[in-house]
Amino acid sequence: MSQYDVIIIGAGPAGCASALFLHQKGLRVLVLDRTSFPRDKVCGEFISPAADDILEELGVLDTIQQSNPVRLQGVAISSYGKPELCIDHPPCPGRVKPMTSLSLSRLQLDHLLVQKLTEQGVEVRERHAVDDFLFEENRVTGVKGQDEANRPFTF
Ligand SMILES: Cc1cc2nc3c(=O)[nH]c(=O)nc-3n(C[C@H](O)[C@H](O)[C@H](O)COP(=O)(O)OP(=O)(O)OC[C@H]3O[C@@H](n4cnc5c(N)ncnc54)[C@H](O)[C@@H]3O)c2cc1C
Repeated sequence: MSQYDVIIIGAGPAGCASALFLHQKGLRVLVLDRTSFPRDKVCGEFISPAADDILEELGVLDTIQQSNPVRLQGVAISSYGKPELCIDHPPCPGRVKPMTSLSLSRLQLDHLLVQKLTEQGVEVRERHAVDDFLFEENRVTGVKGQDEANRPFTF
């Protein structure tokens, strides 16, 4: 059976970010996702201004910038028949760059993160659905599930 330090279930932004940071620390990481990428995900597609630094650290900000994403200056709050309230993002103490937020489709963002994993040498297995854990002496030591051809796997 294959051995890993960490197995991450789900290659969404949380799984990919965790995998990249753990990989950078020298851990052997496996990422499993039941779907294949690019995949879409229901989302408002507003990324907080604070995420820029994290995306840069993850090594994907340059690629995002190259795709000419929408940059928002703030937020607008509206309701039927009432005036719209527009508020610019407030300045962040200690930050020189103006505060703007990215708006990017999840189809693009999530795919980009998965591509980054592969580029960095992190093992990603798509179409692998996890449905149970492996236990040893009351500790979780692995996962099991099925791939798209309904073949069982354990890691
Ligand atoms: C309607 C809506 C609007 C939103 N708008 C915003 C917004 O504008 N801005 C914002 O920042 N956040 C927004 N969010 C929240 C945001 O979508 C989530 O916080 C974010 O997607 C969480 O990322 P994640 O990586 O944890 O999970 P996900 O992105 O959901 O990824 C989970 C992954 O795990 C995989 N998976 C699940 N179970 C298994 C399994 N058993 N085996 C293998 N793989 C599995 C799935 O296939 C999926 O790819 C919104 C959410 C909703 C519902």
